[in-house]
Amino acid sequence: MVRRPSLPMSGGCVCGRHRYTITVLPLTVYACHCADCQTQSGSAFGMSMPVARSGFRVTGAEDLGTHLRAAASGRTVAGRFCTTCGTRIFHEPSRNPPIVNVKPGTLDDTSWLEPMGHLWVDSAQRWVAPADGTLIYPGQPPAFDDLYRRFAAAMAARPPEPRAPSAGRMRGAPPAPGT
Ligand SMILES: [Zn+2]
Ligand SMILES: [Zn+2]
Repeated sequence: MVRRPSLPMSGGCVCGRHRYTITVLPLTVYACHCADCQTQSGSAFGMSMPVARSGFRVTGAEDLGTHLRAAASGRTVAGRFCTTCGTRIFHEPSRNPPIVNVKPGTLDDTSWLEPMGHLWVDSAQRWVAPADGTLIYPGQPPAFDDLYRRFAAAMAARPPEPRAPSAGRMRGAPPAPGT
């Protein structure tokens, strides 16, 4: 049984220069198969985990690099990344300042992650096969409400994490300052 993640969650870039903590449950998790996400990730798709900005803290934010881009949706998105190791840590969508889109592959514990939906599947690599029952969108979803609702239901159905992930699961990044 996959468990609900315990809070706070933590994560960071590959080199450990930037670490973050998340103190609220995210709004959802989804995969995006647009051409930009494939290029940015150098992989098959991007993953996003929208989180209320008030529940997200990143160390050394003033040193993060910023790349502004017109997304496939037509909106401007600021990609924030570590200028030492290049890891993309989160996105700031201009249309929705209260939200940051954390790139959830940067979490210390990714064991609980599961996309509630897949976006831009019309441009997905041909081998990608979303799990049965996930929400499928050919392009940009008209609204994210269904993705949010499904995530809330999935988390409510999972038992809570009994304790923080053991050190063996961590990726070797240093602990966040102040902890
Ligand atoms: Zn780094
Ligand atoms: Zn995308």
